[in-house]
Amino acid sequence: MVKANLNFSKLPQRYLFLDIAKRVAAFSEKHPDADIIRMGIGDVTRPLAPAVIEAMHKAVDDCAASATFHGYGPERGYLWLREAIVKGDYAPLGVQMNPDDIFINDGAKSDTGNIGDVLAPGTTVGITDPVYPVYVDTNLMRGNLIKYITCSAENDFTGDIPKEKLDVVYLCYPNNPTGAVITRNKLKQWVDYALETGALIMYDSAYEAFIRNPKIPHSIYEIEGARQCAIEFRSFSKTAGFTGVRCGYTVIPQNLKVKDERGQAVNLNALWERRQSCKFNGASYISQCGALAVYSEQGRAQTKATIDYYLETAQIIRECMQEIGLNPQGGENAPYIWAQTPGSMDSWDFFDMLLEKAQVVITPGSGFGPAGQGSFRITSFADRQRTIEAMNRIKSLIKHA
Ligand code: PLP
Repeated sequence: MVKANLNFSKLPQRYLFLDIAKRVAAFSEKHPDADIIRMGIGDVTRPLAPAVIEAMHKAVDDCAASATFHGYGPERGYLWLREAIVKGDYAPLGVQMNPDDIFINDGAKSDTGNIGDVLAPGTTVGITDPVYPVYVDTNLMRGNLIKYITCSAENDFTGDIPKEKLDVVYLCYPNNPTGAVITRNKLKQWVDYALETGALIMYDSAYEAFIRNPKIPHSIYEIEGARQCAIEFRSFSKTAGFTGVRCGYTVIPQNLKVKDERGQAVNLNALWERRQSCKFNGASYISQCGALAVYSEQGRAQTKATIDYYLETAQIIRECMQEIGLNPQGGENAPYIWAQTPGSMDSWDFFDMLLEKAQVVITPGSGFGPAGQGSFRITSFADRQRTIEAMNRIKSLIKHA
């Protein structure tokens, strides 16, 4: 008889955001007139930039005529988009990148989850905690061994460099959920650790466009040696509102090698190309044309204005959390604000209290890992007026509790 993958039994019962949706739906059913404000989601809410819309309209028109029609695209994505990424994202950082280091995809979630295909099963994986749940869940599905790297105010939410040897380390900065960023110096310590121990770093910089402090690195490749030990994931989702359009990219430097079980060096770029050409058919021509428009002068200005809007909203949330003494972190170079529950209340109890008494939805910190207990995440991907209303409700609830 065919056997199911038993590793799935090690996963949390439900995906965090499904759990939240269920609780909110149950509350709505009981209170159909409740005016619920959702500050929990990580999805963008502002429309796409006009430059992107225009480019995608044109791409649809291209597909309406035989002479300009586009079917299956190249395995790594269109060269014109990869060249724009090299020029637009890496050259300004002083990072030399080759278009063949880059693989266009349908967003960072798939690749952060699928990248394990090119590594041996049974890998020991270090994952910062609290964390975007996809890294933990996908590694559990493969039967890998997870070692949590606790992130707290004591280590600026960037983890202590492990004493033990890990095969793989996942880092995400600016961070989801804590909104923390990593300094150049600390990132260098992680790169040095990887070079010394032979570990591979999976660096998720899906939120790099939110960085406003010029001292904070946007890419791990700004650190010397990273091309020998790191893969980087980027996305147009949060940079340019592509959560529904779908386009992102993964960087695997052409000289990045790991050893196979026989001790022989294997080129990961070549392995990933083999994997992608077998299992993936690329982001659509239309999405890639939209992504290219992000690098135009207008596209840049328009997407920056949208991120500025979210960052201003984040500031409003931070100030409210500060005022009521919930010790906010993040929100300055990231869309997320991480705060402590009052009196170290359990994260889900605080979630339920806010839903029932203020009709505001946040994300309970414990849903992001054990170190998230006693904390919660609020997103700035929300309407400005609704955010102000939500903050007023939370303020009045906490002040009168
Ligand atoms: N990485 C992080 C840290 C995220 O928070 C998210 C989405 O919330 C993703 C990746 C996935 O983004 P995408 O829409 O590109 O799949």
